Amino acid sequence: MYSAKEIADFIDKEPLLQDVIALKSVVWINPNRKTKLETLDFSITKEDMLAAEALWNRFAPFFYEAFPETQKSDGILESPLKELPNMKRLLNENNSKIDGRFFLKCDNKLPIAGSIKARGGFYEVLHYAEKLALKAGILKDSDYRAFASPEFKKFFNNYKIGVGSTGNLGLSIGIISAALGFQVTVYMSADAKPWKKDLLRKKGVKVIEFSGDFSEAILAGRKQTKADAMAYFVDDENSKELFLGYSVGALRLAKQLELENIQVDAQHPLFVYSPCGVGGSPGGVAFGLKQIYGNHVHCFFVEPTHSPAVLTGLLTGKKSRISVQDIGIDNKTEADGLAVGRPSSFATSMSSHLISGLYTIEDSKLFQMLSQLMDTEQIFLEPSATAGLIGPQRVLETNYAVRNNLNMKNATHIVWATGGDLVPEKERLVYYNRGLAVLN
Ligand SMILES: *Cc1c(COP(=O)(O)O)cnc(C)c1O
Repeated sequence: MYSAKEIADFIDKEPLLQDVIALKSVVWINPNRKTKLETLDFSITKEDMLAAEALWNRFAPFFYEAFPETQKSDGILESPLKELPNMKRLLNENNSKIDGRFFLKCDNKLPIAGSIKARGGFYEVLHYAEKLALKAGILKDSDYRAFASPEFKKFFNNYKIGVGSTGNLGLSIGIISAALGFQVTVYMSADAKPWKKDLLRKKGVKVIEFSGDFSEAILAGRKQTKADAMAYFVDDENSKELFLGYSVGALRLAKQLELENIQVDAQHPLFVYSPCGVGGSPGGVAFGLKQIYGNHVHCFFVEPTHSPAVLTGLLTGKKSRISVQDIGIDNKTEADGLAVGRPSSFATSMSSHLISGLYTIEDSKLFQMLSQLMDTEQIFLEPSATAGLIGPQRVLETNYAVRNNLNMKNATHIVWATGGDLVPEKERLVYYNRGLAVLN
């Protein structure tokens, strides 16, 4: 906890914090962004990211075997990149001035988990499973199809996996762990949606519910999992493996941009807008994109006005040593994927030098854009995942483009849609109608 005097000092140094505390939607441009990446001493490297991609490739035969929906992509899990001409037109009719092309990175369409957690969450479990199999010497001839076999399932059933989650991370870890045979327990925060808990229980996952928020669920999960020598905890508040799993998304996006003949260079800036919870998924993607495009990519994070965990950590300089509750914010938002009060320590120390900025958004705006995207493009996203759609407009409100001398006519904007495909029909309609209510 921080004293009133300490909070007042934070505000003195960063007056924007006053607006953050007042729950205003703000845009913050990062003064600590480094333009000489090679001078940064990160604990992971581009080679680590390439090694993570290689692990995904090794496991493709497993996915092909265990999840038939991945057969059309040869066991590779990837999402489409889709241009949004109608949504762009609508936004521009409503005072946006989006120049250049406007795309959606459709991670809501990632197979199996229907969210960006299929990148980080799956990766961390696969990484652990591979390590166990190699150590036990059961992986013959590098045939990864064996991970789908009854023998392997029996082997992994001796091991346990635990994770704390607001919903989607639990879904992804639960589904992949159960498929491999692990005993898996998901510690869910109070804001996790009931249908997510039901779905997990149906898949044989043990779900433990908490009345508190995400940090409390993590704390309890970490404690109980670590007390068990045969158990492994996926720690969203401090995980290098999650981060690396997410970073592979950047390599895949780069290939898709190439296929679309989209240039990224000094004359063709790339903007990426990512919804942010603990900062792991947007941080991993930003790290990867920076390795590929350096200063030509401009990464912005988005948080709900009621859960600005990463912004609070960066503005005060305290990173994961401060929570939004410490400055009097309630961490209550309908965007359950972003309902996080404290940022990841691993991700935030990296992002603090990489991102161009961060803006906050009100829940009502998330629902509004959810309905508008349905109406214009017939794409359904969960509320968290719509947060980036307003990115170009929010950045244009600042002098970022002018100060960095960017040719916005040639810009490519990518809105990272982080989830939605598993949301049941009934909930979709409720969300959609809430958006209509905001609009009318
Ligand atoms: C988890 C999640 C995010 C944010 O990812 P973090 O790693 O927590 O920052 C964004 N959107 C959705 C839908 C998510 O599930």
